[in-house]
Formats: sequence, C-alpha cells, structure tokens
Amino acid sequence: MIRSILIACLSSSALFANLVSTQNWPANRSFYDYLVLNRIDPILISELDEDSYEVVRTILADTTFYEHREEETDRLLHALIPISEEQQISLYYSEGGYKLEIVPVRYAVVRETLTTRIQSSLQADLIGITGNSRLAHEITAIFDDRVDFRRDVHKNDPIGAIYLRKVRLGKTWGSVTVESAFIETNGKRRYAFYYPEDEGYYDEKGNALAGLFLKYPLKFIKITSEYQPTGRQHPIYGQLRPHLGVDFGASAGTPIYTVAEGVVRFAGCQRACSEGYGKQVVIEHKNGWQSRYAHLQNFASKVTQGTRVSQGQTVGYVGKTGVTTGYHLHFEMRRNGQTTNPLAIKNVRQDGLNGKDLSNFLMLAEKWRGDLDYYADIAEPGVNRISLIDAGDKYNAN
Ligand SMILES: [Zn+2]
Repeated sequence: MIRSILIACLSSSALFANLVSTQNWPANRSFYDYLVLNRIDPILISELDEDSYEVVRTILADTTFYEHREEETDRLLHALIPISEEQQISLYYSEGGYKLEIVPVRYAVVRETLTTRIQSSLQADLIGITGNSRLAHEITAIFDDRVDFRRDVHKNDPIGAIYLRKVRLGKTWGSVTVESAFIETNGKRRYAFYYPEDEGYYDEKGNALAGLFLKYPLKFIKITSEYQPTGRQHPIYGQLRPHLGVDFGASAGTPIYTVAEGVVRFAGCQRACSEGYGKQVVIEHKNGWQSRYAHLQNFASKVTQGTRVSQGQTVGYVGKTGVTTGYHLHFEMRRNGQTTNPLAIKNVRQDGLNGKDLSNFLMLAEKWRGDLDYYADIAEPGVNRISLIDAGDKYNAN
C-alpha cells in the first residue's frame, strides 16, 4: 500500500514538488538492494559500526518506512527505515552525496482504556475489540499464572485494562505497556499492576504475577565467564578484550530458552560460522531490550528472522561454533544498543516486592486501581482514549 501526499515546498527561488510516502518493506529485500535501486553506492554501509552493520542487513518484511523524493527527478532525498522498535536508518541526500545514520524511531504515545465482557475467550475478544494481537497477548500473559481461563472465566465476566500504545505513521507501533488490568471472576476483580521500576506485574498486594525476563536461558547454570565490559584476557586471542556477555558452560545440544517473548531479529552467522559468535540468535524484546545467544550448535526449528517467540521457548542448542575453546553459551543482553550485565538486570521473574519497592508499588497500585475501576464503571464498552502522553512528530498523526 502506498499512501502519498504531495507537498509543495516553497524555497527562496523556485517551487519544488516533493513526494512523501509511506510504504511497506518487501520480503527478501536487503538494504544493499535498496541502495542499488536508488542508484546509491552501497559502500555507504561500511560507514556503520559492526553491530549496526548486522542489523541493517535484516530489515523485517512489511516494516512501514518513510520516503521523501524530489518529484521531478525521483531522486531519494530522505528515507527513514526502522531496524528495531527503537532505532531506524536515516538515509538522506545532502550537499551532493548521501549520508547514513542510525537514529531513534519517533512515535506518539497514547494512553487508552478498554472495557468489555467476555464473549468467547479473553484473547479472541480482545483482538476483536482492539485489532491489536500484541495487546491481547500481553493481557492474557499477565494473568496466565493466576487464572485458569477455561475453568474460572465465564461468559459475561467483565475485563478492563489501561495501557500505553505507540503510534507511528498512523498505525500501532511496536510493543504495548499494560499499566493495569483486571478480570472479574465469580464477582471478584483480580488485578494486575505494572511496576515501572522492574517492568514486572504484581497483584494489589505486591505478589509477583509475571516478570519480563527469565533469570537464565538454561535449566542448569554453571557460569564460566562473567560480564567484563572493560576487558578480560581472551582465552584464544590472548589480548585484553571486553566480554560483553556471560558464558554458561553446558554440554553439547543443551536446549537454550529465550528469556522473554519477542521477535527473532537475526538467526545465522554474522560472517562465517567459524568466526566470532558462530551461529547466533538475536531476539528483540519490548522496551528496547535485546538478547543474544551465541556459539550455537543448531537453531531450533522455525526460529528464523521475523519469528515471534514466547518466553521460555527453545531457540537453539549449545554448541561451539565460532571462536571458542569449548561447548558453552555466550549470552548477552542489550538495551537500546548498550550492553548490560545479564546477571544484574532487575526485571526478572521474582517472588514479590518488599521494602521500599513494596511501599512505592502500593501507592502506585492504589492510584491505578482507582483509575481502572473508574473507567470500568463509566466508560462505554470498547476502547477509549484517555490522554496523549507524547505527540511524537507530525508524521505520527493518529
Ligand atoms: Zn562469552
């Protein structure tokens, strides 16, 4: 689908007609192809650092991207192409040549409430009302541990939620954040509240419902090398090299689980499978998080670029591909491109809140419970806008 708007730009000397459009990225088109298609020298890609180089290779099919062309010559003036939920390629024409940059994705954020009564199933009803399968999945997942959907939930049971949704180029973009939700069963409301500090979900007393991440990607844990961003003696190269993840020793073929639900961004070898990380899987999660599983023996079946995976799903098997001294898993966590110590992240499944976290949470939960009950009682069934949190930019009109 091509949506085009003719914009007449007044410059000091002449009237130029420029064509602005949004389009969907075709399957099997690489960024390299795109450059060639636009008569741009692909050598431009080499200006990117190694990580950006890798993600630029893997633009997901159907990603909505933005183009600005000079109508007369069809020359590309500017393209914005997302490579993840938070980052995009900005390719632009300037002073007779093209420039390439990785910049943040711009989107609007809206807060909405939805209320309804169960008709067939929670998931199906939510998709029917919102048209948003990620939102439906998210709400279902939050209650998954506590509610037996087949036994406890009946027709006409009320449900409600308040959530943040991102809007880019007029469409829902990326992940949603459910701030609060309830399901009423047998006349009793079961609540779930989001705690932004650790990105987990808790009931009104602070008992854990669901955490964003599993603590480990393997069942049995033996840490053989810790996260050392400032450098360690590399076992093969000898020199001091940063170690941007954690190594877990495990025998060949041990299943590796993804620590959170997400989308497979990359499943393959960066260059040759005998080099670097060997066979690896990179998964993009919500809120700018990414996890990497490297030196794999094999990928789990159906784990390919663009596949949606759920928390705990097997994505591959421990191996020793790439540069390594033996069988182990190299596991990395990044947020907005920055590596972080996987063993130190807070938002893992936990037992419950306590101390200062608990008192902060209880205050927040009380307010959100009031809001949720209020909207559940007064709002028309369906989806209602509460507020615009962040307007993004003019292209995100919703
Ligand atoms: Zn490692």
